Amino acid sequence: MSPSGTTSTGTHTQHIAIIGGGFCGILTLVNLLKIAKNPLHITLIHTEELLAKGIAYDTYSDQHVLNVEARNMSAFPDDPNHFVNWYKDSGLHSNGDAEQIPFHYLSRNIYGKYLQSIFKEALIHIPHHINLYFVHSEATDMQLEGDHFRISCRDGSSVLAHKVVLATGNHLPGHSALNGKDFLNSPKYFSNPWKEESVNDLDDSAPVFIIGTGLTMVDVVIGLQEKKFNNKIYALSPKGFNILAHRPHHPQREILDELAPPYEIEKLVQLFRKYVHKAWKHGESGETVVDAVRSKTQEIWQSLDLKDKQRFMSHVRHLWGVARHRLPAHIHNQVQDLITQGKLEILAGRIQDAFEEDGLVTLKIKRRKSQQEETIKVARVINCTGPQTDILKFDSLLFQNIIRKGYIFPDEMRLGVEANPDGRILQKDGKPSSQLFTLGTLLKGKLWESTAVPELRMQTKKLAELLLAI
Ligand SMILES: Cc1cc2nc3c(=O)[nH]c(=O)nc-3n(C[C@H](O)[C@H](O)[C@H](O)COP(=O)(O)OP(=O)(O)OC[C@H]3O[C@@H](n4cnc5c(N)ncnc54)[C@H](O)[C@@H]3O)c2cc1C
Repeated sequence: MSPSGTTSTGTHTQHIAIIGGGFCGILTLVNLLKIAKNPLHITLIHTEELLAKGIAYDTYSDQHVLNVEARNMSAFPDDPNHFVNWYKDSGLHSNGDAEQIPFHYLSRNIYGKYLQSIFKEALIHIPHHINLYFVHSEATDMQLEGDHFRISCRDGSSVLAHKVVLATGNHLPGHSALNGKDFLNSPKYFSNPWKEESVNDLDDSAPVFIIGTGLTMVDVVIGLQEKKFNNKIYALSPKGFNILAHRPHHPQREILDELAPPYEIEKLVQLFRKYVHKAWKHGESGETVVDAVRSKTQEIWQSLDLKDKQRFMSHVRHLWGVARHRLPAHIHNQVQDLITQGKLEILAGRIQDAFEEDGLVTLKIKRRKSQQEETIKVARVINCTGPQTDILKFDSLLFQNIIRKGYIFPDEMRLGVEANPDGRILQKDGKPSSQLFTLGTLLKGKLWESTAVPELRMQTKKLAELLLAI
């Protein structure tokens, strides 16, 4: 039988297509396999042969670690020890204190193996009433035909499905820091920081320049160290904040007693300041407040009006990001050592110009505080500004086509897709679709916090339930 959604006996069976086989796609599939009681066809469309790992958990270095402790990385909300128990039984854990595993920041490649094992296990136990199909190709277009979507793929195949889940995850970083510059086409510009080639084939004759000072910058620095790169590394962002370390702290939970709707950004900032000042007394800072309100973040974001969301993005986002996205202590120490040795320099400022000259890249930088322009010559530039969130700028034929056809729209913050918080994509008339769904980073505009496993595992479970309920 072909994955057309119509069985050979002619009965009309529900067909769900999932586009993208990273954490979100695979766990939505696994949850569907667990809970579907009626006959069902599912097709998983994924660009690469290697399913399940996605960008995050298929990395060239075992030193690229999770930024969440193992105890919070279970793929299943109802089984919080699932990852830790799998790891203990996996044979990958060779030495050290097993009791401490829940508190470790394990390699992201190990997590990739975990996701693959969940996937393989699910394939062994496919219920008889479910037919599962795979298309190993990129989905490039969709067309509504009656009550189906026809999904076209790059390899020429097509899939007819009643319901489609966009689980396309993390897209390549945007180029805003280099907008309009010819340099974007230079072979010395590496736009994909997750690929090993961004740190390969360097000699020590000139420095490297990284745009971005967040967690991806740290991954690249680690990659460069592994490749024995021994010249200077510059990393630049508008504010040039340093990354904080995960460390034991006292979450300011009393703030929850004072947090109540209606939420307004000005009042929230005042309240946060009050608790950050309290944290300073323990020698701690914003992370104690950001962690304390994590369970409320989505609720607060959803109730802010557009102006307040814009204010947050302009004035608070960078500070929030520093407090929220922290490094395991041992990696943080590594980074600090490099800074102390002068091998890594974090700059605050903006790129004014970038061009190739005499076999190197010349960068004109305007420093934030002094507003002075300076010139830096480097061997290459690596873009670590984080996944692009504006769907109008995605380098994806699928998105270009379905935006043009009016099947999806950017949300008002340009952080993802216009959708209900439960993942139903909003149609032209503003009504939630009963055929098009999404989850994960594409819901960032709706939920703000929609990136990490602790949120995504819940989304995959709820989306599977929703897909079968409507
Ligand atoms: C470098 C990095 C490190 C991270 N580390 C952590 C961490 O330590 N802990 C944590 O909780 N979260 C982490 N995250 C967050 C991460 O986003 C989520 O944990 C999770 O991996 C997201 O899964 P996803 O399925 O939404 O996206 P992805 O993993 O990006 O998977 C989407 C897949 O869809 C495929 N795809 C895209 N378009 C198409 C198409 N048109 N047709 C077919 N296939 C398509 C892509 O090839 C991709 O493999 C990290 C993210 C990144 C980028």
